[in-house]
Amino acid sequence: AKRAGRSTLRFFDPQMQRAVDERAQLEAGLRDALAHREFLLVYQPVMGPGEEVRGVEALVRWAHPQRGMVSPAQFIPLAEETGLILPLGRWVLHTACSLLAQWQHQSARAHLTVAVNVSSRQFRDAGFVDEVLRVLAETGAPAARLKLELTESLLVEDVPATIATMEALCAHGVGFALDDFGTGYSSLAYLKRMPLAQLKIDQSFVRDLLSDPSDAAIVRTIIALAASLDLEAVAEGVETAEQREWLAAAGCSGYQGYHFSRPLPRDRLERWLDGAPP
Ligand code: C2E
Ligand code: CA
Ligand code: CA
Ligand code: CA
Repeated sequence: AKRAGRSTLRFFDPQMQRAVDERAQLEAGLRDALAHREFLLVYQPVMGPGEEVRGVEALVRWAHPQRGMVSPAQFIPLAEETGLILPLGRWVLHTACSLLAQWQHQSARAHLTVAVNVSSRQFRDAGFVDEVLRVLAETGAPAARLKLELTESLLVEDVPATIATMEALCAHGVGFALDDFGTGYSSLAYLKRMPLAQLKIDQSFVRDLLSDPSDAAIVRTIIALAASLDLEAVAEGVETAEQREWLAAAGCSGYQGYHFSRPLPRDRLERWLDGAPP
């Protein structure tokens, strides 16, 4: 009886049970979160080589009524599994394009780009190209200011279909960036065939740039690779002036990170853009 008790205990590992409950709770909440308007976008500035603001990246947040802010790292994978990423992704795109459309009429902001993260499930959906074009038309956002960020794993899944989708949108002026570059498994041969404009150097390589020679070597290699393919290399997760200076000397084409600004809600972003404290 004692043995059975032990194994039962092990089976109902309270920590595991808590994780399962938490997931079930999040999943239930996620289903209604769109209707309850619990999602919001924050925007992180993306700087050019001369530290001018080039645009922003839109990042989704879930303001959970009980839990407070839930990180996208927690709910995006869940949204992908449940399919909720399709309506959520559409909402993100629509909200980001509405901002772009409004900026188009403000001379100081008309040049800024807005980058939107696109998940594999969204990108693979048969209606994706039409959906992006419809949102652009509905909001009046200029296609040439919209950047879509894709991850490496997505690119290698079905190469001909990926290229076709990217080319259809590129033909309208939409640009593409490869997110978290260096963490996945892109074939360099594919990279050359994709209509990409930018590689985003994953923040895991930027973090220890100054203390870890292999991270520094990886970043140099990515910058050189980007240059040889005629792509921009944008560093993510830049937190210090020392990192920014190292990256500038290495020939990086852009920067993003807490050193410049944290992701901000729209009103605070616009104050930051105006040079006022956010
Ligand atoms: P990501 O696309 O790589 O976004 C960059 C992440 O790094 C963001 O985390 C951002 O807040 C964080 N970050 C920016 N600067 C710094 C810095 O200097 N230091 C550090 N340590 N972190 C920094 P966040 O907002 O939690 O988003 C996590 C991930 O969730 C994103 O990674 C992206 O993959 C995904 N995600 C966010 N919004 C969306 C969305 O609308 N759709 C989809 N499909 N995925 C999204
Ligand atoms: Ca991104
Ligand atoms: Ca990234
Ligand atoms: Ca990431």
